[in-house]
Amino acid sequence: MATTHKTRMLIIGSGPAGLSAAIYGARAGMEPIVVQGLQPGGQLTITTDVENYPGFREVIQGPWLMQEMEAQAVHVGTRMMYDIITSVDLSGPVFTATSDSGDIYEGDTLVIATGAQAQWLGVPGEQELSGKGVSACATCDGFFYRGKKVVVIGGGNTAVEEALYLTNHSDEVTLIHRRDTLRAEKILQDRLFANPKIKVVWDKRVERFMEGEDGGLRALALIDTKTGEQSEILTDGAFVAIGHAPATELFKGKLAMDETGYLLVEPGTPKTAIPGVFACGDVMDHVYRQAITAAGTGCMAALDAERYLAHRDFAEAAKVEA
Ligand code: FAD
Ligand code: NAP
Repeated sequence: MATTHKTRMLIIGSGPAGLSAAIYGARAGMEPIVVQGLQPGGQLTITTDVENYPGFREVIQGPWLMQEMEAQAVHVGTRMMYDIITSVDLSGPVFTATSDSGDIYEGDTLVIATGAQAQWLGVPGEQELSGKGVSACATCDGFFYRGKKVVVIGGGNTAVEEALYLTNHSDEVTLIHRRDTLRAEKILQDRLFANPKIKVVWDKRVERFMEGEDGGLRALALIDTKTGEQSEILTDGAFVAIGHAPATELFKGKLAMDETGYLLVEPGTPKTAIPGVFACGDVMDHVYRQAITAAGTGCMAALDAERYLAHRDFAEAAKVEA
């Protein structure tokens, strides 16, 4: 039978943003509920080494970090629900989310932490070699390719920024693009073309990621998009940078978004245009997209949710007294 779960703070998403909001919310006595979604623990559960999350001298594993974060959130009083939200009603004053299981979740505040997913090429070898040479995040994984050959696939701002970033670690960076002009802004293109460590390969589509004898990435099979000619490029690492898709389908027509679907918030805060509804992590941040920034904005969302409820409760108490 369907159940209605009520909480002072309903959190959708269990990546670093949602779990950080939960830790702060629980410690503030809001008894949060986290609805975990299809990917409990979020994007870090599909990676291996994480070397840039503060607090750990040695390399840690993404799935382990997320298990620890979840355990910490539960330890301080969060209720975890293995469920997927399928629709939301933001008309308030209580925010309602309906789920796949049929259960209803009601929150006096709502924290949206549904994240974003990197878009992939969907060609053979890509998934199999993910984490073994194929990545979608240069800031996360570039360090592992110090002094090695890397390629970046894509022609937008992200691809150019990733290529420029990778020159911090590698002297041989190749940008592979399917056309003969880039979509990236002119200023980024100027920097790219001026960088002697970067070569651009035009008009090439990746047909396949090829495995080496050591089980890691060895090469990419390419096809010329104009002539159909086939070629191969040897590489140690490949960074797919063809865009990200924020998980905001649920909020279309209900909350303001930018042209690529990221939720818009009041600058410098996690506040959406609806008082009591907050957005944190990758779902509202197309620039930084890191676990630490997601966790930071999750913390901000919980602090703002607590303040929102304190003001609301004070105003209601004053009304009763009057
Ligand atoms: P996510 O981690 O994307 O979590 C989103 C959550 O929302 C998930 O739990 C999902 O199940 C849930 N959800 C979505 N829709 C629904 C729904 N309808 N109902 C309920 N729940 C829902 N960052 C680093 O700082 N260091 C790294 O080394 C690093 N490595 C990375 C490696 C890879 C392969 C990838 C893909 C990313 C990496 N990142 C890294 C980036 C980092 O993982 C993200 O910035 C971070 O996870 C964003 O956190 P988030 O909480 O905003 O969202
Ligand atoms: P994007 O602008 O959509 O560019 C995606 C790139 O990937 C395009 O060059 C596209 O090729 C290519 N591509 C898409 N699908 C492909 C496929 N299947 N095979 C091969 N190539 C494929 O995405 P983005 O670069 O991630 O940027 C997203 C948004 O964030 C943009 O609005 C961007 O301006 C913004 N952003 C801004 C900054 C900044 O301001 N510094 C930094 C990063 C991102 P085509 O060109 O042929 O379509």
